[in-house]
Amino acid sequence: MNNGVSAAVTLQQQFSGVGVAAGRVIGPVRQMPKPVQEPAAGPVPADFSAEFEAQRIKDAGKAVRAELQARAATVAGEGREVLEATALMAADPMLIKGAIKLLAADTAGGARSAERAVWESGASVAAKLTALGGYMAERATDVLDVRARLVADLRGLPAPGIPVAEAPFILAAEDLAPADTATLDPAKVIALVTSSGGPQSHTAILARALGLPAVVAAVGVDGIADGTEVYVDGAAGTVTVAPAAELRQAAAAWTERSSALAAFAGPNTLADGVHIPLLANVGTGADAAKAAASGAEGVGLLRTEFCFLDRAEEPTVQEQIEAYGAVFAAFPGKKVVVRTLDAGADKPLPFLTNADEPNPALGVRGYRTDLSSPGVLARQLEAIAAAEAAHGAEVWVMAPMISTADEAAAFAGMCAAAGLRTPGVMVEVPSAALTAASVLREVSFASLGTNDLTQYAMAADRQLGPLASLNDPWQPAVLALVTLTADGASLASAAAGLPKPVGVCGEAAADPALAVVLVGLGVATLSMSARALAAVSAVLATVTLAEAQRLAAMALAAPSAAAARAAVRAELPILAELGL
Ligand code: PEP
Ligand code: MG
Repeated sequence: MNNGVSAAVTLQQQFSGVGVAAGRVIGPVRQMPKPVQEPAAGPVPADFSAEFEAQRIKDAGKAVRAELQARAATVAGEGREVLEATALMAADPMLIKGAIKLLAADTAGGARSAERAVWESGASVAAKLTALGGYMAERATDVLDVRARLVADLRGLPAPGIPVAEAPFILAAEDLAPADTATLDPAKVIALVTSSGGPQSHTAILARALGLPAVVAAVGVDGIADGTEVYVDGAAGTVTVAPAAELRQAAAAWTERSSALAAFAGPNTLADGVHIPLLANVGTGADAAKAAASGAEGVGLLRTEFCFLDRAEEPTVQEQIEAYGAVFAAFPGKKVVVRTLDAGADKPLPFLTNADEPNPALGVRGYRTDLSSPGVLARQLEAIAAAEAAHGAEVWVMAPMISTADEAAAFAGMCAAAGLRTPGVMVEVPSAALTAASVLREVSFASLGTNDLTQYAMAADRQLGPLASLNDPWQPAVLALVTLTADGASLASAAAGLPKPVGVCGEAAADPALAVVLVGLGVATLSMSARALAAVSAVLATVTLAEAQRLAAMALAAPSAAAARAAVRAELPILAELGL
């Protein structure tokens, strides 16, 4: 029998991680099924029957098809078409008959289990589609998805992918692929908690863009039983099982406050009237339309690779013109900063990156792919220029992963050749921050990518949960690199007699307290997920530039990230008032 004390301990069991998107909600947990592992290729048991296994494959095909059709019936538009097409694939003769053929002992490699046969048949269909190129090549991913569903069904395991449920739930997982996060329906998934994953991973970024309270690196949350009610605090980074009354009140209060914080009406000013434009980070035209509706003063980062993450081949110039044009159309007459393709590490693009690199974060990624795949960048710049001509946005263009002034000069030359007037660079490699005056001499502006700048300054993979405390943009070393960049840009501006503004488009800009510090360090614009605009603006409105400079000096002088954060937060009472 439980005594009251141990019952209370059990009731209040808490998991601590890193809060990556503010918000307090309560709901039942649903676990993300684990990815389907490759079935072993070993010998089949003595009582193996090819006929019996063939029937199991046919049954699995029917079950997966029926399940996908049932899901298709619950969604509308493009999502429905995609699910219906995938449902058809589950019964595709090439896949199913191909698998059944592989069961027989007389095929190359000998008899296979149903699971193994489906695995190999799926691989061969996907390879054929890839070889056909174009639209067909893009279907290869869908075949591999169906293959995983068939193998899960054969094993009696839940289907891979985001669970489907009638009622809203809190999604728990070890980690999520960016593609999984992109398919989350915020009406169904009310918060996201992962046992792994870093605070600057693209999964965390997408969760923030969807406005989902999220906690990453909370060891153990992937073991919480389905249906367990938990309280998630996305600012504190905690997940509490069976929340007591005061946590229920906190969740209710957050719901009220968040609707009050939902609106941002620019222009954003500090308490003394200084204008600090708040811009949006977007990946598609649809994101841009939402950002414009949220009051963003422009786009500070268009992640062009997000338009083409599912592509096996380079998009055509025409396709690119359309994709970028959709973003420009949402911001007529306003600034839109387009970043050229940033492929590599956790955002591989098969037509640009080499999947076999031993250290992808230090590999041929971002601007560097111009060396390995010459022509792709020039064609992208041509498409950006054509889209600019067709729309009225003020287009700035920047290259990711610039490390040297020579690279900045080469990129500026390519922009000029394409007729693009405002070339810039991301400062996300420490060498670019350390040589900012020379780098900025070559271009018109810089944007600090604090996500990568932090990972490279701290030598800590931004995707790794256990390194979350190193991967913190409040680290004094990162703040020092921001200072060096702003100071270098001032020198370059003075030498050129022209402003060379430095913005921030990393996730640091979306942390309202850190946004104050960045402004105090000399940053001119802040770009973030549209959802963060209102909170950042509400906090910036409470400080003058001189106060922001004082808080920035305090953060720079702190001995640790935690000390810097605590010292600055203590000076901003608005944060507690707004529950941020
Ligand atoms: C960054 O590194 O801070 C950045 C904005 O780029 P991304 O997150 O896309 O790497
Ligand atoms: Mg980056």
